[in-house]
Amino acid sequence: MKTSVRTRFAPSPTGPLHMGNLRTALFNYLFAHHHKGKLIVRVEDTDKERSEKRWEEDMLSNLTWLGLTWDEGPYRQSERTKIYKASLEKLLNEGKAYWCFCSSEQLAQEREEQEKRGEAPRYAGTCRSLSKKEAQEKLKNGVPGVIRFLNPGRKISFEDLVRGTIEFDTSLSGDFVIAKDSENPLYNFTVVVDDHDMKITHVIRGEDHIPNTPRQILMQEALGFESPQYAHLPLLLGEDRTKLSKRQGDMSVTRFRQEGYLPESILNFLALLGWNPGGEQEVFSLKELVEKFSLDRVQKGGAVFDAKRLEWLSGHYIRETPLEELTKLALPYLEKSGVPIESLDSKKLQSIVQLFQERLKALGELPELAGFFFKTELEYETDLLKWKDMSSQKASESLERASNVLNGIVEPWSPESLEKALLETAGEDKGGLLWPLRVALSGRKASPPPFDIASILGKNEAIRRIRHAQHLLTS
Ligand code: GLU
Repeated sequence: MKTSVRTRFAPSPTGPLHMGNLRTALFNYLFAHHHKGKLIVRVEDTDKERSEKRWEEDMLSNLTWLGLTWDEGPYRQSERTKIYKASLEKLLNEGKAYWCFCSSEQLAQEREEQEKRGEAPRYAGTCRSLSKKEAQEKLKNGVPGVIRFLNPGRKISFEDLVRGTIEFDTSLSGDFVIAKDSENPLYNFTVVVDDHDMKITHVIRGEDHIPNTPRQILMQEALGFESPQYAHLPLLLGEDRTKLSKRQGDMSVTRFRQEGYLPESILNFLALLGWNPGGEQEVFSLKELVEKFSLDRVQKGGAVFDAKRLEWLSGHYIRETPLEELTKLALPYLEKSGVPIESLDSKKLQSIVQLFQERLKALGELPELAGFFFKTELEYETDLLKWKDMSSQKASESLERASNVLNGIVEPWSPESLEKALLETAGEDKGGLLWPLRVALSGRKASPPPFDIASILGKNEAIRRIRHAQHLLTS
């Protein structure tokens, strides 16, 4: 590539960053980095009613959390009004745009008549014939007006790097509105000015923007700008193959972050939504993705958001993370659920995390799985202590045997020595000894083996929990 690549991620801050936006950001990042180019972040906040600062913050903090760094920006369209104004004036002066004062009633009536005649609705061009003087006069008198682009109405074709040649007949659009007034330009116009001003070489965005592209090309021509190259990414689909939306649950990045999916797994997962690296490899680091990424392996058809795959990848990265680091990452999740982590020594915490590392899919599962370690009083149904059709009496006796074994252990207090001693005592009746013990220690139907739990709890706490269980059985 001759000129250096410059891509941009240009979200509108009208809601939380969602997985679809993030995929767009990622592909822009990968393409720019693959070509040793630059990624620009641009906040498209021209819609004053719907744009909110908190959504911009949500977007930037999530990109940062994921390690998707950008090279320039964030630029904000709301801070660039002067730049747009200059281009709007240029178009107005050159007669390539004009003021339109048609009222909404007039436009509605026009539309209705067109529909009756079986025509596609479009602006009839009524105000095209107003002279500049007449327009100025109306503006002076406070008549509300918008600025329309004088659409030359011809066929536009462009080479999309994903979809090949795309053709549009722009005469079907009529003269479209590009600004609500000279201070308030609209999306299609600001994008054209910014992509030029920011020297964007490649516009990589969702395929829902395909219909905007011919309009943008017309405006680029009118302003004498070179067009960037376009690559429109396939839609993200839910498992029911309909467009991914709220119906498939909350798709905000913040939700996945709060649930404790590791950033690496989210990036790995999204990279494969619409891009096919070829071959069998499924796990890719960001560095590998940068190396391998190319737009010609982006598919045209929609990409299904397979939540199970994300879980699998997240589990994979959790298993790969060194224990010490994983424990650090897990702390905020435990803390949020009310675990008094200050009172725990880090070795103990690490052993707890290790116990669940194999089966975790997201760190947010940890408080639920491991919460029993941190409770002073476990709550469970007394009957859960009984193995099969055991009576309360038998269950309590079994716990007595187990506590005798634990009391008898001198050194080392380790899962291995506990397992050995308990299995020796249990003989053939493993369930009868281990089930009540495990429930007494964890209060749960499912948990890691009692040896592991007891070794972390320590002898005193293990015995205390056994006594409590016996008390429940006999009271
Ligand atoms: N601001 C637009 C959006 O959030 C994207 C514009 C573009 O990529 O051209 O959908």
